[in-house]
Amino acid sequence: MSDLMTRACELDAADPLAHFRDEFHLRDGLIYLDGNSLGAMPKATAARMDKTLHTEWREGLITSWLGADWVNSPRRIGDKIARLLGAEAGEVVVADSTSINIFKALTAALSLQEGRSILLTEQTNFPTDHYMMQGIEGFSGGRVQTKSVPPEEVLDHLSDDVAVLLLTQVHYKSGLARDMAAVTAKAHAHGVLIVWDLSHSAGAIPVDLNSANADFAVGCGYKFLNGGPGAPAFLFAAKRHHHAMPVLSGWFAHARPFAFEEDFDAADGIERFLCGTPGVLGMAALEEGVDLMLRADMAAVRAKSVALANLFIEAMGQHCGDYGFTLVSPTEADKRGSHVAYSHAEGYAIMQALKARDVIGDFRTPDVMRFGLTPLYLRHTDVVEAVERLATICENGEWDTPEFKTVASVT
Ligand SMILES: *Cc1c(COP(=O)(O)O)cnc(C)c1O
Repeated sequence: MSDLMTRACELDAADPLAHFRDEFHLRDGLIYLDGNSLGAMPKATAARMDKTLHTEWREGLITSWLGADWVNSPRRIGDKIARLLGAEAGEVVVADSTSINIFKALTAALSLQEGRSILLTEQTNFPTDHYMMQGIEGFSGGRVQTKSVPPEEVLDHLSDDVAVLLLTQVHYKSGLARDMAAVTAKAHAHGVLIVWDLSHSAGAIPVDLNSANADFAVGCGYKFLNGGPGAPAFLFAAKRHHHAMPVLSGWFAHARPFAFEEDFDAADGIERFLCGTPGVLGMAALEEGVDLMLRADMAAVRAKSVALANLFIEAMGQHCGDYGFTLVSPTEADKRGSHVAYSHAEGYAIMQALKARDVIGDFRTPDVMRFGLTPLYLRHTDVVEAVERLATICENGEWDTPEFKTVASVT
């Protein structure tokens, strides 16, 4: 056994989170390093779905909106996610997709910024963040302009014309983590409101929205929160902004949805950030993922995430140092989220070959291989084993086949 593997075994034996692995369905032999893209399935989720389908829907039918509290699920699960994000009860709702929540947060922030017209972001932000901004600009009839600048310069472009800064806290490719409190303070010093995209932060790193004085935030339910494929997303609005109006004025955002009034009258609280009827099946699955996450101590999650990443990087240096991989993520642990990324000219084919050896990570164009490190269900030995399998693939060149080089529609 290599020295690193011996050390990994010792770390596993002393791991205070080790028992969480058994709460997930994971096939023997599989090393799943893509929980930053789709979290693994908690065992409790199947029983919950069964109850939601067979007791609540089949038997309870429409009475379950009240009887099983379906109607309050956006707020109830939002309150739970708030605890993971340093927010108060009543500041987070679960609804829609992250893309739609970006639209709602941006338009609500814009409604507070009369006289300012620019939506600012950085060029390498996640594409949907750009696209949603561009859609708002197009619809605004000249009221709004988007501005996208190099990532390291974004804070230099804060000014009196900027209405809102939209940033992802943990970068989806590099894993670079921005200092939420420092960046928020800089934005506020220029009168700029900030919308944080927490897609790779929620359940991955400790987040403290209110001590950072954040304005709005959004993020995914299906990544580190293990809510299931296409799980509903969340939206945070600081209490002081609950009078802001997101453009989407659906009936679930109304103060009295079941009064069936003709005219829209927005709910006072975070409910005004809802739109239509919640997808109850998705909500039920998400709640199981969130409940499981809440049982883990976030400081222990962070400590293990750092240990896993450091071990992965060390193993890459030791076993794959000669094969042309370049670390894209920051080397300092406190500047990283909970995934590590490497670039390699043949990254796509190598990732395919790795999957054939039962190590699942993912690939992001043009040349980035991403490895998600999820402390609830990964062992330290898994990351060393993954790098050993990667070294084997590089040593014998088994990635170098037409089959592994054909790019699929989902990467
Ligand atoms: C995954 C991700 C999204 C996904 O948005 P959806 O609307 O759920 O498809 C958005 N932003 C970031 C930064 C992401 O990483």
